[in-house]
Parts: sequence; structure tokens; C-alpha cells
Amino acid sequence: MKVYADNAATTKISKTALDAMMPCYTEIYGNPSSLHAVGQEAFHTVRDARTVIADILNCSPDEIYFTSGGSESDNWAIKSTAALMAKKGKKHIISSKFEHHAVLHTLKALERQGFEITLLDVYENGLVKPEDVKNAIREDTALVTIMYANNEIGTVQPISEIGAVCREKGVLFHTDAVQAVGHIPVDVQKDNVDMLSLSGHKFHGPKGVGALYCKKSVRLPNLIEGGAQERNRRAGTENVPGIVGMAAALREAVDNMEKNTEKLIAMRERLIEGILKIDLSRINGDREHRLPGNVSACFEGVEGESLLLYLDLQGISASSGSACTSGSLDPSHVLLAIGLKHEVAHGSLRLSLSEENTPEQIEYIIEALPPIINRLRDMSPLWEKIQKERGNL
Ligand SMILES: *Cc1c(COP(=O)(O)O)cnc(C)c1O
Repeated sequence: MKVYADNAATTKISKTALDAMMPCYTEIYGNPSSLHAVGQEAFHTVRDARTVIADILNCSPDEIYFTSGGSESDNWAIKSTAALMAKKGKKHIISSKFEHHAVLHTLKALERQGFEITLLDVYENGLVKPEDVKNAIREDTALVTIMYANNEIGTVQPISEIGAVCREKGVLFHTDAVQAVGHIPVDVQKDNVDMLSLSGHKFHGPKGVGALYCKKSVRLPNLIEGGAQERNRRAGTENVPGIVGMAAALREAVDNMEKNTEKLIAMRERLIEGILKIDLSRINGDREHRLPGNVSACFEGVEGESLLLYLDLQGISASSGSACTSGSLDPSHVLLAIGLKHEVAHGSLRLSLSEENTPEQIEYIIEALPPIINRLRDMSPLWEKIQKERGNL
């Protein structure tokens, strides 16, 4: 059996999205900036896609800027706000310890340029406390950037409360909502956000396209200079097929969200139940405030990368945490941020489901896991040590 359970890394494009994109290669191939009919058709197609996304996020179409993906949107929001606020003498930025690297590495770069960064604790449950945000805000705070939902452990932050704190204090608030949009309800008004990043390929849209929502009153400096696209704010000929595919995928994801959520939660809970039957296993992150399709687990005395290889041999595609850290020997910064010891964090497994998964696949994973884990533990000196400490040897 083949099971794709790495949807937090990327998703398979939906047929609806692909069908919407094809005419953009074959018929609507004009440049949206061209004044002739072929160009204008492309222009209208992009305009319609922008309206679809704006309606879903509850903002105005001229608050949506198309980008090349989540990483660019994060870079743009953070670097440009930093530049804007530095002119007013504000050089302090608040974020959390378990952000995506697109945020953390951007903040590192700003730190080297003289910005001061405060990374808030996310506690054992993987949630930021709005009071902590409130207490960290200073006179010179330029920006608060906190992710909507974590890509490794799936925890969903109290975004509207954090946003309310920022509003009250008059500080700009950006959220990396790449894992949230298309999966849980997101509304930029209710959530009190000033800027929000999203990415097409995380909700069955195409790769290499994303968007930044930026509230009209925020005059964000440009990240990419050139032509007049995106109301002079982000140059470069529009990725017309990508934009159209992303809008179609998002429309479909939101229309089916209720039905999909119910199905995903049932599969997630069954998977968690199966995993917790394994000796010295744990589920990471708050059990209630989490994405419908995310299961993040750790198995003591198991090496995560080996576990992935054995699962792959059984046709199961999973991840140890983030696609960005795979291949490196360091344990995930997210798992360390929730207080796990290095040796526990090393035995991590992330299964991120989509509505395309089936209950049969879940049973297949539950059956595949114990023999693999037993085999890896039998070979592990760490497991032998753990067993001795427990008096089992
Ligand atoms: C995938 C992801 C990104 C990066 O998005 P890209 O479109 O791949 O650049 C950023 N943040 C989070 C939380 C993600 O999951």
C-alpha cells in the first residue's frame, strides 16, 4: 500500500486547481500588463483570483499581494516592516521559539543588522501565551510575528487574542499562516492581523506561488524592485497559472473544510490512539488546539531518520518534523522549544494527513509501526540503557 502522510511538507495538486491552470498555459497566455486583448484576458483572470482569495480571508482585493510562496511573504513582511519601523527608531521584534525557518532565519539576519529579537517560550503544549506577548512589548517594538499553526507539531495559536494585544499596544502584527489557510477558518478581521503569509502548495495548489495580505494602512516597502505589478509593490510578471491554481485550490479547500475536518480529526485520533499503545511513545503539542491532520509523535530509544527509511520501505511517506531540517543531525528546534530532551526529540515522527488519506491507510500505518520500532530499539544502545534504568534488563 502507498500512503502519503507528509502533507505539511507539500500536498498533491487537486484536479480542480490543475483544470483551472491548464487554460493559462494554452489560451490565456498573455502578459497581464499588455494592453491588447490577450493580455487583458490574463489581467482579468488574475483579478478574479485575487477577489476569490480576498473574499475568503475577508479583506479587500487590493490588500492581497501575490508572491513566490510562503518564504517570500514572510521575508517581505518582516524585513520591510523592520526597515519601515527602524526609521522611527523602533528596532525590537517579538516572535516565538518555534517559528518556521523562513521567519527565524530572517530574524537572525535582522539581528546581525542591529535589531533586537525576543523569542517567546511556547511551553510544553506548544502554545504562545497572549500575556507573554503583552509583557514583551516595549516602546521600541516594531513588530510581533507569531505563526498561526506550527508546521511540525500542528498546534494552533490564539491568534485573535495575540492580535488584540498588539492592537491595544499599537504594534504591527504579522502571522505566518501557511499551515492554517485552507485547513482551519482564517479571517484577517476577526484575527486582528495586519499582515499574513500563505502558500499555495500547502492546500493542494501549485508550488512556487503564495500571497501576502497587508492591511491598506501599512505602507510596506518593496522587497523586489522592477515593474509596476502588484500595485508597484512587488515587481515581476505575474505567475498567472500559479495564481489561478492557488485561488481554485483555496476555494475548494474552504468549501469542503467542514466535511474534511470531520474526516481528518477521526483519522488523526485513531492514529494517535494506535501510536500511544506503543511503549514509551508520546504525542507532541496540545491535543485540542491542533490542526485536524497533524500527528506529531516521539518514540524513546528510536532514531527518527531510520524510522522514516523503514516506513518508506513499507510505502509510507512521513517526516521527522520539518522538511527543512531533514538531512541535518540536529534535533528539531520545535521539539526542543517544547522542552523535549535531545534524545527524545531525535525519535520524532510527523504524520500529516490530507482528506485524500483513507481509514484503511491509517490502519496500515498503525500495523506497520510497532514491528519497525521494535527492530530499531533492538539495535539501539540508547534503548538498552533506558531498559536498564527501568529495571527491565
Ligand atoms: C511551508 C512553510 C513555509 C514556506 O512556504 P514556501 O511556499 O514553501 O516557501 C513557511 N512557513 C510555514 C509554517 C510552512 O509550513
